Amino acid sequence: MSTPQERATASATPTLDVDRSDPTYRTWLNEAVRKVQADANRSADTHLLRFPLPEEWGIDLYLKDESTHPTGSLKHRLARSLFLYGLCNGWIRPGHPVIEASSGSTAVSEAYFAKLIGVPFIAVMPRTTSAEKCRLIEFHGGRCHFVDDSRTMYAESAALADRTGGHYMDQFTYAERATDWRGNNNIAQSIYQQLELERYPEPAWIVTTAGTGGTSATIARYVHYMQYDTRICVPDPENSCFFDGWVNEDPGCTTDCGSRIEGIGRPRMEPSFLPGAIDRMMKVPDAASVAAVRALEAAIGRKAGGSTGTGLWSALKIVAEMVAQGSRGSVVTLICDPGDRYLDKYYSDAWLEEQGLDISPYAAAIESLIATGVWSGTD
Ligand SMILES: *Cc1c(COP(=O)(O)O)cnc(C)c1O
Repeated sequence: MSTPQERATASATPTLDVDRSDPTYRTWLNEAVRKVQADANRSADTHLLRFPLPEEWGIDLYLKDESTHPTGSLKHRLARSLFLYGLCNGWIRPGHPVIEASSGSTAVSEAYFAKLIGVPFIAVMPRTTSAEKCRLIEFHGGRCHFVDDSRTMYAESAALADRTGGHYMDQFTYAERATDWRGNNNIAQSIYQQLELERYPEPAWIVTTAGTGGTSATIARYVHYMQYDTRICVPDPENSCFFDGWVNEDPGCTTDCGSRIEGIGRPRMEPSFLPGAIDRMMKVPDAASVAAVRALEAAIGRKAGGSTGTGLWSALKIVAEMVAQGSRGSVVTLICDPGDRYLDKYYSDAWLEEQGLDISPYAAAIESLIATGVWSGTD
């Protein structure tokens, strides 16, 4: 088993067969970078919504709504950063495909940017990826290439890039370094700006789930760089090795089973997941994630994906701890993507039954927390 560092080095040397001094290449490159930057310039910031809690608790819970990006998830930020990084590094070339290993959301956003700059796009995905995500990738002009075992996604992507002369984007390696963590209106800087006029502008906690680990790395680094007192919590779903790898400080930690919560939970410690920057992790049962995402709809009238539920469950648990300690302050978590992508999963009782998931004890725990401030859940 290679270490994340070895894998990162192995994937960092794409083949180059373009004449860098060719002025038509340089014109193409300049245009491609301009188009990606112009997309950002046309875009508005995402909202910071409030999750209603009793005012007298003195605790404010916010949700950074990343579902409103043009491609519907927080992966819009990542895809933009990866395209800029790949273009500026000379890795993405005219006429050559961009290839990505993705459980879906990243591929949707990357297909959008590939179309924007006019290069072909191929997504290598687990066969279990939701049909709606495949439809969206194809809608943006991308092609879906399925694998039966999600652990073979990386090797299959690298092989496909070799065969086609394309560029394997490799989000799991590059997410943390392609993002401007010191600022440039990254997700963390945006959260702090939007909290400026709130009663607790510096959150006690930011809760953020991990797929590539890029979002948690960006937020944690920014908090440390700016010397804020905020703590970072990363909740992990059932089928993922991040929690055990973090607890045991084991970069070689793996799991066999793919995550039921799309977008988060990984079978290996991804190179972009930076455990050292994270203050706390929680293991969240998948049934609790689904209960939380349904409670979100009851509270704010919006559906979201399963990973939003994982984050919300963990944030509510932290809120309950703050109530118990008598401490005041704010907590921030994310709406990662919209729920209409998962009507046949997290919003389907038939799916829950098929998966053997009983959400009722978790739903009851959330209801009693919101009514009384007391946490009755065991997890
Ligand atoms: C990718 C993803 C996450 C986690 O973000 P990372 O920055 O990759 O760790 C959470 N939720 C959804 C739906 C995602 O697609």
